[in-house]
Amino acid sequence: MRDKIVAGNWKMNKTLSEGQALTSEILMMTEAEVQADIKIVIIPSFIHLQSIQNLISTNRKISLGAQNCAFREKGAYTGEVSVEMLKSIPVEYVIVGHSERREYFQEDASILSQKVDLLLSNGLTPIFCCGESLSIREEGKHIDFVKTQIEKSLFHLPTEEFSKIVIAYEPIWAIGTGKTATAQETQEMHHHIRLLVAEKYGQAIADNLSILYGGSVKPANASELFTQQDIDGGLIGGASLKSRDFIDIVKSF
Ligand code: PEP
Repeated sequence: MRDKIVAGNWKMNKTLSEGQALTSEILMMTEAEVQADIKIVIIPSFIHLQSIQNLISTNRKISLGAQNCAFREKGAYTGEVSVEMLKSIPVEYVIVGHSERREYFQEDASILSQKVDLLLSNGLTPIFCCGESLSIREEGKHIDFVKTQIEKSLFHLPTEEFSKIVIAYEPIWAIGTGKTATAQETQEMHHHIRLLVAEKYGQAIADNLSILYGGSVKPANASELFTQQDIDGGLIGGASLKSRDFIDIVKSF
């Protein structure tokens, strides 16, 4: 059985005290309301990771994630945060290749594959993001586009390493826009991703791969998305900043 995961990417939001308050609310609601076996991941800014970790450390349903990591191991990279530093907190999951990183920080397939390698060699789980722009979808090239993104950054991995990856499909046109891909559009893409992985690594690895959807997920649309056969959870932006919405999304499983 593959993991069911709901991860909240707070992006560049929340001060320290706001993030602590949000975490405390999520903790209380999780304990009171979440029975199902779902992994909940909180992904705050780097500088709040340690204090959030202190709050969640005794809860076995909630894990800590980071929004990014450096592509080099250590050294003279001013302003960067290494995988080893994240591991020392400890962080369990790290987002790699979010469309905002690709767009604003010019992160390309080669940088992303170096990040993935560093994370895996340190025992952290990459949440690898992929997804097309609106114009690519309108041209009908979205399946091939996502295929290339996955092949270029992940398909150098040996099977054992690939089996530790989580993939998040996030169509750029649905991120923060209020426009969600329909459950059918999402299921179609997730199905293609699983087929692609099965061709390369075999059916068992594909069956065990968690593929999350991200793009304007909210309590009102989460159930329909999460009941699709190949959707194993969500990477949630805006709605993860409100404890009630985030936990209602978790409970949609
Ligand atoms: C995201 O940025 O990963 C995301 C899915 O954002 P939102 O839920 O706000 O669309």
